[in-house]
Amino acid sequence: MRNKIATNDLAVFGGEPCFSNKLHVGCPNIGDEQAMFRRFHEVLERRWLSNNGPCVQELEEKLAAYTGVKHCVITCNATVALELAIRALGLTGEVILPSFTFIATAHALQWQEITPVFCDVDPLTHTIDPKRIEQLITPRTTGIIGVHLWGRACDVEALAEIAHRRKLKLLFDAAHAFGCSHRGKMIGGFGRAEIFSFHATKFFNTSEGGAIMTNEDELAHRLRLMRNFGFEGVDNVVYLGTNGKMNEVSAAMGLTNLESLPAFIRINRSNYELYWRFIKKLPGIRLVSHNEEEQSNFQYIVLEVDESVAGISRDTLIEVMSAENVMARRYFHPGCHRMEPYRSYYPNAALLLPNTERLCRQVMSLPSGTATGADAVTDICALLKFCLQHALEISERLTDCPRKKLALVA
Ligand SMILES: *Cc1c(COP(=O)(O)O)cnc(C)c1O
Repeated sequence: MRNKIATNDLAVFGGEPCFSNKLHVGCPNIGDEQAMFRRFHEVLERRWLSNNGPCVQELEEKLAAYTGVKHCVITCNATVALELAIRALGLTGEVILPSFTFIATAHALQWQEITPVFCDVDPLTHTIDPKRIEQLITPRTTGIIGVHLWGRACDVEALAEIAHRRKLKLLFDAAHAFGCSHRGKMIGGFGRAEIFSFHATKFFNTSEGGAIMTNEDELAHRLRLMRNFGFEGVDNVVYLGTNGKMNEVSAAMGLTNLESLPAFIRINRSNYELYWRFIKKLPGIRLVSHNEEEQSNFQYIVLEVDESVAGISRDTLIEVMSAENVMARRYFHPGCHRMEPYRSYYPNAALLLPNTERLCRQVMSLPSGTATGADAVTDICALLKFCLQHALEISERLTDCPRKKLALVA
């Protein structure tokens, strides 16, 4: 950041980029390489690469113990895990979920011809707003899927109360929330089942992977059958199933990464605190906080950019940062309800989603995770500060918004 004195020094205007390599949101957290190679070697020696191998079984036991949930059913990814849980619980008709989530939450429903009914979120926590759910319930509604966005738990108690009273099944997409707690209890055991993602970009990864956690024996049994084509024993198919199995190489990676979890959290937390110290002073920028009273993985650094105060839009800020090789991302722009097929199916969905609409315009995520060092965080913050100090000039040069031009002249 030493190299920026005037706006012309910004890479977007031809200056030298702040970073020579791209910094990404969700660059994988990777544990001890030697331990990983040892486990890969054992997998190859055994020649047991899939079908509920020893690494998968060990990882399931360890994850169940870590979250304190009775059953952990590991899968090839969280999208298939969601599909399995939705089907195993017998959801049909309509299911209520937030639109402010990754598209997979909605697709897992629509894929099985269940209508996703989009609900607005709480403006502060970004999780589904329980007060808006009941107006969306119809005779066809069978369930609610809450999303613990950024690792922050939904209002679990309010959702459970509605689900109980209206006889709906409650599921959680906990893709972001591995290692996080709610009221002192690890996320994983709430609702009928919770789904984690172990995708490369998530806090804890198996390169691709996911899991369904549940405390229900019968549900876990059904999920295991469905995950493996419905096979119960050799040659005996008793259920409609698919292939949702995790392979041994991914499970070995998971076992290794699990050993580094405390280190991942320590680094994420210190990055978050560093970001927090700089960003809290910047006008028009709000850093979405992790709940300090709970355990958290501190994986996501999420900002809301209020253009009317900051003088620069989220999108312009991302354009400037990207040129500097800070690959900040819009989340979850433009919102599930504005993506196909939902945009065509429900053209008026936005009317009921004012908070979601605002967040889809304002939210951006900054590079974080163990690949991002403290020096990088400091430089990213300095760059942000520079952008805000020169907000009007940058905006005026990068957009042809007449209102901005007028504001500059005045
Ligand atoms: C990542 C993610 C998923 C999908 O996970 P995969 O393992 O990539 O299938 C689902 N929901 C949310 C909220 C996610 O962030």
